[in-house]
Amino acid sequence: MLDADFFRRWMTVTAASVEREAERLTALDSPIGDADHGSNLRRGFTAVAATLEKEAPDTPGAVLTLAGRQLISTVGGASGPLYGTLLRRTGKALGDAGEVSEEQLAEALRAGVEAVMTLGGAAPGDKTMIDTLVPAVDALGTGFAAARTAAEQGALATTPLQARKGRASYLGERSIGHQDPGATSAALLIAALAEAAGE
Ligand code: ADP
Ligand code: MG
Ligand code: MG
Repeated sequence: MLDADFFRRWMTVTAASVEREAERLTALDSPIGDADHGSNLRRGFTAVAATLEKEAPDTPGAVLTLAGRQLISTVGGASGPLYGTLLRRTGKALGDAGEVSEEQLAEALRAGVEAVMTLGGAAPGDKTMIDTLVPAVDALGTGFAAARTAAEQGALATTPLQARKGRASYLGERSIGHQDPGATSAALLIAALAEAAGE
Protein backbone atom coordinates (compact mmCIF):
# COMPACT_ATOMS: atom_id res chain seq x y z
CA MET A 1 0.00 0.00 0.00
CA LEU A 2 1.08 3.57 -0.71
CA ASP A 3 0.84 6.12 2.11
CA ALA A 4 1.23 9.90 2.34
CA ASP A 5 4.99 9.49 2.81
CA PHE A 6 5.22 7.74 -0.54
CA PHE A 7 3.38 10.60 -2.26
CA ARG A 8 5.53 13.23 -0.53
CA ARG A 9 8.59 11.30 -1.70
CA TRP A 10 7.19 11.26 -5.27
CA MET A 11 6.90 15.04 -5.19
CA THR A 12 10.32 15.70 -3.62
CA VAL A 13 12.05 13.30 -6.03
CA THR A 14 10.28 15.11 -8.90
CA ALA A 15 11.45 18.47 -7.54
CA ALA A 16 15.05 17.24 -7.37
CA SER A 17 14.89 15.78 -10.85
CA VAL A 18 13.35 18.94 -12.34
CA GLU A 19 16.08 20.96 -10.63
CA ARG A 20 18.74 18.71 -12.17
CA GLU A 21 17.16 18.76 -15.65
CA ALA A 22 15.87 22.35 -15.74
CA GLU A 23 18.44 23.55 -18.25
CA ARG A 24 17.72 20.66 -20.60
CA LEU A 25 13.96 21.29 -20.38
CA THR A 26 14.46 24.95 -21.17
CA ALA A 27 16.80 24.08 -24.04
CA LEU A 28 14.11 21.78 -25.51
CA ASP A 29 11.60 24.64 -25.18
CA SER A 30 13.91 26.95 -27.12
CA PRO A 31 13.45 25.80 -30.76
CA ILE A 32 9.70 25.09 -30.47
CA GLY A 33 8.66 27.36 -27.59
CA ASP A 34 9.73 30.33 -25.49
CA ALA A 35 12.61 28.75 -23.56
CA ASP A 36 11.01 28.77 -20.12
CA HIS A 37 9.80 25.22 -19.46
CA GLY A 38 12.67 24.32 -17.11
CA SER A 39 12.41 27.55 -15.14
CA ASN A 40 8.62 27.29 -14.99
CA LEU A 41 8.74 23.79 -13.51
CA ARG A 42 11.70 24.51 -11.26
CA ARG A 43 9.77 27.39 -9.68
CA GLY A 44 6.65 25.24 -9.39
CA PHE A 45 8.18 22.12 -7.88
CA THR A 46 10.46 24.06 -5.54
CA ALA A 47 7.27 25.64 -4.16
CA VAL A 48 5.57 22.23 -4.01
CA ALA A 49 8.43 20.73 -1.97
CA ALA A 50 8.45 23.71 0.40
CA THR A 51 4.67 23.65 0.94
CA LEU A 52 4.59 19.91 1.55
CA GLU A 53 7.30 20.26 4.17
CA LYS A 54 5.50 23.12 5.90
CA GLU A 55 1.94 21.78 5.81
CA ALA A 56 2.69 18.03 6.01
CA PRO A 57 -0.66 16.78 4.59
CA ASP A 58 -1.32 13.29 5.92
CA THR A 59 -3.20 11.48 3.18
CA PRO A 60 -2.18 10.65 -0.42
CA GLY A 61 -5.11 12.66 -1.78
CA ALA A 62 -4.22 15.72 0.32
CA VAL A 63 -0.56 15.59 -0.76
CA LEU A 64 -1.47 15.64 -4.45
CA THR A 65 -4.25 18.24 -4.24
CA LEU A 66 -1.96 20.59 -2.30
CA ALA A 67 0.86 20.02 -4.79
CA GLY A 68 -1.48 20.67 -7.71
CA ARG A 69 -2.83 23.85 -6.18
CA GLN A 70 0.71 25.07 -5.62
CA LEU A 71 1.69 24.43 -9.26
CA ILE A 72 -1.33 26.34 -10.51
CA SER A 73 -0.56 29.34 -8.33
CA THR A 74 3.21 29.50 -9.02
CA VAL A 75 3.63 28.51 -12.70
CA GLY A 76 2.51 31.10 -15.21
CA GLY A 77 2.98 29.01 -18.37
CA ALA A 78 0.64 26.47 -19.92
CA SER A 79 2.33 23.65 -18.02
CA GLY A 80 1.32 25.01 -14.58
CA PRO A 81 -2.46 24.66 -14.93
CA LEU A 82 -2.00 21.39 -16.85
CA TYR A 83 0.29 19.67 -14.31
CA GLY A 84 -1.69 21.31 -11.51
CA THR A 85 -4.90 19.81 -12.87
CA LEU A 86 -3.20 16.42 -13.26
CA LEU A 87 -2.19 16.31 -9.60
CA ARG A 88 -5.35 17.88 -8.19
CA ARG A 89 -7.66 15.60 -10.12
CA THR A 90 -5.57 12.54 -9.26
CA GLY A 91 -5.59 13.60 -5.61
CA LYS A 92 -9.33 14.12 -5.64
CA ALA A 93 -9.83 10.64 -7.12
CA LEU A 94 -7.78 9.15 -4.25
CA GLY A 95 -10.24 10.61 -1.73
CA ASP A 96 -9.30 10.75 1.94
CA ALA A 97 -7.90 7.23 2.40
CA GLY A 98 -4.73 7.00 4.49
CA GLU A 99 -3.26 4.42 2.13
CA VAL A 100 -4.05 3.45 -1.45
CA SER A 101 -3.18 0.47 -3.63
CA GLU A 102 -1.16 0.64 -6.85
CA GLU A 103 -4.36 -0.18 -8.71
CA GLN A 104 -6.14 2.77 -7.08
CA LEU A 105 -3.25 5.04 -8.00
CA ALA A 106 -3.35 3.84 -11.63
CA GLU A 107 -7.10 4.48 -11.78
CA ALA A 108 -6.78 7.92 -10.16
CA LEU A 109 -3.94 8.93 -12.49
CA ARG A 110 -6.09 7.96 -15.44
CA ALA A 111 -8.77 10.37 -14.19
CA GLY A 112 -6.05 13.01 -13.81
CA VAL A 113 -4.77 12.51 -17.36
CA GLU A 114 -8.31 12.68 -18.70
CA ALA A 115 -8.80 15.99 -16.89
CA VAL A 116 -5.65 17.34 -18.56
CA MET A 117 -6.99 16.27 -21.96
CA THR A 118 -10.31 17.98 -21.23
CA LEU A 119 -8.61 21.18 -20.06
CA GLY A 120 -6.01 21.43 -22.84
CA GLY A 121 -7.91 19.69 -25.63
CA ALA A 122 -4.87 17.58 -26.59
CA ALA A 123 -5.09 13.96 -27.70
CA PRO A 124 -2.28 11.41 -28.13
CA GLY A 125 -0.18 12.34 -31.19
CA ASP A 126 -0.52 16.13 -30.71
CA LYS A 127 3.09 16.35 -29.40
CA THR A 128 2.40 17.27 -25.78
CA MET A 129 2.81 15.83 -22.29
CA ILE A 130 -0.21 13.64 -23.15
CA ASP A 131 2.04 11.53 -25.41
CA THR A 132 3.98 10.54 -22.29
CA LEU A 133 1.17 10.38 -19.75
CA VAL A 134 -1.27 8.17 -21.68
CA PRO A 135 1.19 5.30 -22.36
CA ALA A 136 2.55 5.64 -18.81
CA VAL A 137 -0.89 5.23 -17.26
CA ASP A 138 -1.63 2.33 -19.62
CA ALA A 139 1.56 0.59 -18.48
CA LEU A 140 1.11 1.35 -14.77
CA GLY A 141 -1.06 -1.76 -14.38
CA THR A 142 2.14 -3.74 -15.04
CA GLY A 143 4.17 -1.80 -12.48
CA PHE A 144 6.14 1.38 -11.86
CA ALA A 145 9.19 0.32 -13.90
CA ALA A 146 7.00 -0.45 -16.92
CA ALA A 147 5.33 2.95 -16.59
CA ARG A 148 8.73 4.66 -16.54
CA THR A 149 9.85 2.83 -19.70
CA ALA A 150 6.59 3.65 -21.48
CA ALA A 151 6.89 7.31 -20.44
CA GLU A 152 10.46 7.59 -21.72
CA GLN A 153 9.47 5.99 -25.04
CA GLY A 154 6.44 8.29 -25.28
CA ALA A 155 8.62 11.36 -24.81
CA LEU A 156 11.14 10.22 -27.45
CA ALA A 157 8.32 9.44 -29.87
CA THR A 158 7.23 13.11 -29.91
CA THR A 159 10.28 14.11 -32.00
CA PRO A 160 8.89 13.26 -35.47
CA LEU A 161 5.42 14.62 -34.64
CA GLN A 162 3.98 17.96 -35.69
CA ALA A 163 2.63 19.93 -32.72
CA ARG A 164 -1.12 20.52 -32.73
CA LYS A 165 -1.52 22.12 -29.30
CA GLY A 166 0.28 24.79 -27.32
CA ARG A 167 2.92 27.26 -28.40
CA ALA A 168 4.82 24.74 -30.57
CA SER A 169 1.75 24.37 -32.82
CA TYR A 170 2.31 27.95 -34.09
CA LEU A 171 5.38 26.60 -35.89
CA GLY A 172 3.37 24.14 -37.98
CA GLU A 173 5.68 21.73 -39.82
CA ARG A 174 8.74 23.45 -38.33
CA SER A 175 7.86 21.81 -34.99
CA ILE A 176 8.81 18.43 -36.55
CA GLY A 177 12.19 17.04 -35.50
CA HIS A 178 12.25 18.37 -31.92
CA GLN A 179 11.40 16.48 -28.74
CA ASP A 180 8.54 18.09 -26.84
CA PRO A 181 9.63 19.70 -23.55
CA GLY A 182 6.41 18.89 -21.69
CA ALA A 183 6.49 15.26 -22.83
CA THR A 184 10.07 15.18 -21.50
CA SER A 185 9.18 16.63 -18.09
CA ALA A 186 6.23 14.25 -17.85
CA ALA A 187 8.72 11.39 -18.21
CA LEU A 188 10.66 12.84 -15.24
CA LEU A 189 7.44 12.87 -13.20
CA ILE A 190 6.78 9.20 -13.98
CA ALA A 191 10.42 8.21 -13.42
CA ALA A 192 10.18 9.89 -10.00
CA LEU A 193 7.17 7.70 -9.23
CA ALA A 194 9.26 4.60 -9.92
CA GLU A 195 12.13 5.99 -7.86
CA ALA A 196 9.81 6.79 -4.93
CA ALA A 197 8.68 3.16 -5.09
CA GLY A 198 12.32 2.05 -4.92
CA GLU A 199 12.38 0.76 -8.52
P1 ADP B 1 4.37 27.83 -22.19
O1 ADP B 1 4.16 27.16 -23.51
O2 ADP B 1 3.19 28.61 -21.73
O3 ADP B 1 5.65 28.60 -22.14
P2 ADP B 1 5.69 25.65 -20.81
O4 ADP B 1 6.87 25.98 -21.66
O5 ADP B 1 5.94 25.60 -19.35
O6 ADP B 1 4.49 26.63 -21.10
O7 ADP B 1 5.11 24.23 -21.22
C1 ADP B 1 5.07 23.81 -22.56
C2 ADP B 1 4.59 22.36 -22.62
O8 ADP B 1 3.24 22.29 -22.19
C3 ADP B 1 4.60 21.78 -24.02
O9 ADP B 1 5.86 21.23 -24.34
C4 ADP B 1 3.49 20.73 -23.99
O10 ADP B 1 3.98 19.46 -23.62
C5 ADP B 1 2.60 21.23 -22.88
N1 ADP B 1 1.33 21.74 -23.44
C6 ADP B 1 1.11 22.95 -24.00
N2 ADP B 1 -0.17 23.07 -24.37
C7 ADP B 1 -0.78 21.89 -24.03
C8 ADP B 1 -2.12 21.38 -24.15
N3 ADP B 1 -3.11 22.11 -24.68
N4 ADP B 1 -2.37 20.13 -23.68
C9 ADP B 1 -1.38 19.38 -23.12
N5 ADP B 1 -0.11 19.83 -22.99
C10 ADP B 1 0.19 21.04 -23.43
MG1 MG C 1 7.48 27.64 -22.65
MG1 MG D 1 6.01 30.57 -21.43
